[in-house]
Amino acid sequence: MLSIPSDIWQDMIEHARALDPHECCGILAGTDDHVTMQYRITNILARMHDEADLAHFDQAKLSDLKNLTPEERADVAFQMDAQEMSLAQKDIRQKGMTLKAFYHSHTFSPARPSLTDVTIAMEFENYRERLNIPEPYHVIISLEDKERPVIRAYRIQESQATEIPVQRRSLPV
Ligand SMILES: [Zn+2]
Repeated sequence: MLSIPSDIWQDMIEHARALDPHECCGILAGTDDHVTMQYRITNILARMHDEADLAHFDQAKLSDLKNLTPEERADVAFQMDAQEMSLAQKDIRQKGMTLKAFYHSHTFSPARPSLTDVTIAMEFENYRERLNIPEPYHVIISLEDKERPVIRAYRIQESQATEIPVQRRSLPV
């Protein structure tokens, strides 16, 4: 169970809408399974011009991506700005929290991890084991139905995505 407060829940939807048709991305942090902090991270794919930067995408997706302009690539995939990511991780450590989840949006597909999402998650797993960071969940905001955004969360292990329950937590009044 991942518990997300309603202000952060709403801000993730606003973030997704603000970048639509590009994908947005970010980090959620907190303690136990309670998210208390959100970090919006820049999707740098929109300004990538070098095909080497796309090397970690699976081959089918890669051949598609090569035919797209950098602007169009950000519509179907994301890569977090590394410097913003490391600043967020530093802030999370300083506040004594843990990184709970990565989030990103799907602007015209369901809230399920794509093959590329699974590939990226597995790459992060290799890096994560070296750094001894707890396993993050993967949250996806779908704007497939623009009026009714859907948010789902997953564990991605051994190239398999498993949905986990996600709760929108009301703020104390
Ligand atoms: Zn995705």
